[in-house]
Amino acid sequence: SDFLQQLRLENPDFKILPHAPAHKTINEQLISHITNINNETCLPGEENSFFVGDLSELDNLYKNWKLQLPRIQPFYAVKCNPNPIILKRLAKYGVNFDCASKLEIETILNLGVDPSRIIYANPCKMSSFIRFANDKKVLKSTFDNVEELYKIKKFHPNSELFLRITTDDSTAQCRLSTKYGADLENVRDLVAKCKELELNLCGVSFHVGSGANDFSTLYKATRDARWVFDLVENEFNMPALKVLDVGGGFQLESFKEASYVLNMALDEFFPVGCNIDIIAEPGRYFVASTFTLATNVIAKRKINNEESMIYINDGVYGNMNCILFDHQEPVPRTLYHNDEFHYFDNETTCQRASKNHVYKVSIWGPTCDGLDCITKEYYMKHDLVVGDWLFFQDLGAYTSSAATAFNGFEQAATIIFINENGEVVEE
Ligand code: PLP
Repeated sequence: SDFLQQLRLENPDFKILPHAPAHKTINEQLISHITNINNETCLPGEENSFFVGDLSELDNLYKNWKLQLPRIQPFYAVKCNPNPIILKRLAKYGVNFDCASKLEIETILNLGVDPSRIIYANPCKMSSFIRFANDKKVLKSTFDNVEELYKIKKFHPNSELFLRITTDDSTAQCRLSTKYGADLENVRDLVAKCKELELNLCGVSFHVGSGANDFSTLYKATRDARWVFDLVENEFNMPALKVLDVGGGFQLESFKEASYVLNMALDEFFPVGCNIDIIAEPGRYFVASTFTLATNVIAKRKINNEESMIYINDGVYGNMNCILFDHQEPVPRTLYHNDEFHYFDNETTCQRASKNHVYKVSIWGPTCDGLDCITKEYYMKHDLVVGDWLFFQDLGAYTSSAATAFNGFEQAATIIFINENGEVVEE
């Protein structure tokens, strides 16, 4: 956007963070897992796709968050990847949690996390779930409509409420404001209803869309939130709101830029010393680059000497459901071909034909559905064969959390977690 271009000009040191390095330790775990699988003799499922989860990457992402957004307490969006090892580690860092359902709340409470560290960030909740939150003393929750307030008054009157407002998320990878958020013209009625019902309105929340790219939206949403804060205090004479929730939408590739804009907006509308806590609900940022997926080539249909259809054992009904639900475009790379590992070769595949990439492939998942396609066209350095392995980096967000067992392809995906020393962390 023009806004971003201007920012880049004004700030020549505006660099996109380098992508997580291809860790030697990830490679070692990939090799050791794959070399233990013999396609000629293995049991059904032993050659299943698997993840390597790099906990040192998670550490770095957390440190980076503290560095770039020191004023903002993250509430990790559990929906994004509810793996218990990830949740435990985040809880240990002091990250709090955004839950959207009874099961997510239960999962977090079972880790021993205090209910005050949870925000029930779903503006349209089932009454039974609201009663559950009440029983478990989960106080913070979001709303964007009057009907929700009646339910909350009835079932959880001590809630600490966050009024969720809409944002312009039209350029985000996944829009959310088409479904949730109150328009500013409806805010007065909602605040009035809180006052009438004597509910505890304690903050404002927004979400700029998952995979957001237009950071001017962050600025505008922060400005709109300030308008609501002022309205509550000045026009309704209610107690001042105490918390601003800036939602999710952050991603590693643009985190520095998003942080810069957000910090600038906070300095202008919620300056240090204003006595307002700032929280966020990041999901993708913390887990996308933490996970690498390895998949086995299970079949091949040769079309001619330079073109084939490749079938692998994971697809859009499995861990790559993100292609459909999250508009991701996973990048295939050769991991293992003809007894050789290629993890460090960044050039094994290409989106366009080149003199090094002469083998055209389409890549398909294992189910019988024609929709189960990972990519219609990619170009490979190697003429893949059955038994080879492909890998996909950055597949930790909105992947395993929505995988299905459609067509009998169970997704009991193995996850090999490694720590900062490259050692395998046992689950
Ligand atoms: N908060 C809410 C209410 C959401 O709906 C989502 C994603 O759908 C998130 C946070 C996490 O968003 P992201 O993964 O883009 O950070």
